[in-house]
Amino acid sequence: MKALVFTGLHEMAVEERPKPRLAQPGQALVRVRAVGICGSDLHIYNGKHSFAQYPIVPGHEVAGEVVEVGAEVKSLVPGDRVVLEPIHSCGGCYACKKGQPNVCEHLRVTGAHHDGGCQEYYVEDAANWHKIPDTLSWEEAVMVEPYTIGAQVVSRGKIGPLDTVLIHGAGPAGLIALDMAKEAGAAVAVSEIVEGRLALAREFGADLVIDAKTQEPVEEILRFTGGRAPTVVIDAAGVPGSFGKAVEILAPAGTVVTMTFSPVPAPARVDLITLKELNIVGSRLQTGMFEPVIAGMGRRLERIRRMITHTFPLAQAEEAVRLADSRRADVGKVVITL
Ligand SMILES: [Zn+2]
Ligand SMILES: [Zn+2]
Repeated sequence: MKALVFTGLHEMAVEERPKPRLAQPGQALVRVRAVGICGSDLHIYNGKHSFAQYPIVPGHEVAGEVVEVGAEVKSLVPGDRVVLEPIHSCGGCYACKKGQPNVCEHLRVTGAHHDGGCQEYYVEDAANWHKIPDTLSWEEAVMVEPYTIGAQVVSRGKIGPLDTVLIHGAGPAGLIALDMAKEAGAAVAVSEIVEGRLALAREFGADLVIDAKTQEPVEEILRFTGGRAPTVVIDAAGVPGSFGKAVEILAPAGTVVTMTFSPVPAPARVDLITLKELNIVGSRLQTGMFEPVIAGMGRRLERIRRMITHTFPLAQAEEAVRLADSRRADVGKVVITL
C-alpha cells in the first residue's frame, strides 16, 4: 500500500509500505479515503513541531471504511464508515482521573507521536473509530476532527448566550470556533488581517468582523456592544500580545481561551486577573466531543463545504502540503483523497 511520509525538513515521499494487519482483538482495519492537512501537520513539515520526529506518516483528520475487525470488536462491522479519534491516554494519571485524558501525562497523538493516517490502510483500536452517517462525503467527514477542537474551545470557555466572544484569526481553526460559538448562542466578533478570510468570517455568521490591519479590535468591539467589554477572548492565530491585551479588556468573570502553541512568554497584569476573577484556560485536542460533533454535522454542511477549498489525490500530496503551507488567503482546508 501507499503512504505519505514526511522524511525530513520540507521533504516528503509517497512510499510503498506493507499493509498493516490487526495485532489485537480489539482493533479495526480501515481503508482510508480522505485525510485533512492541519496546522500541526505543517508544523512537522516545517520542523517546528515540539516532539514529532522524522520519518513520520502525518494525518490525524482521517475518514475511511472499515474492512476488517478483531474478534472482540462489537461496535463496528466491515462496511461501516468511520472517522478517527487520534488520541491515546493512560487512564491512570491525574489528568485522566480528572476527566481530561486529552492532556494525559502519557498522551499519544496519532500522526505526531507515531505514524498517522495518511496511508491507504490504518489499524487502530475500535474505540478510536467513530461511525459517521452516509450523508457525509469522505472530504466532509475529515472536518469532524477539527470541529471537535472547536467544540472543546466552546466547552473550555463555557461559552453560551450571555457571551460576547472575540476571536483572533479566521483561518480554519478560528472559523470553526466561530461556528461553534454561534451554535452555543454567543455574539461573536472576529479579528483578522487577511481580506478573503474576513469575508468568509462574515459569511460564517460573525456578528462583527474587524480588519486588524486598519482597525483596533477593542475599539470596534466596544462600539459594537455599546461599551460592554467582551466576555471571552480566543486567540486562534497566535497574535503577539493578545494574551495581555485580553486580560486588560475582558469583562469581570470573563475568560481567556488559549489554543495556539507559542513558546514566547506573554506578560499580563496579574492584578486584573484577580480583581476581575478572570478564567485563564487552555484548550487542547478534545475529550468526548466526537459523538456530539458527528450528530450536528448535517446542519454545518454548507459552511464545511466552503471551508474545504482544495482536494488532491495521494499522488499529488506534495502539492497539497505546499499549498496548505502557502497560507494563501484563498486556501482553507486542503484534503488528500486515497
Ligand atoms: Zn488538526
Ligand atoms: Zn493519563
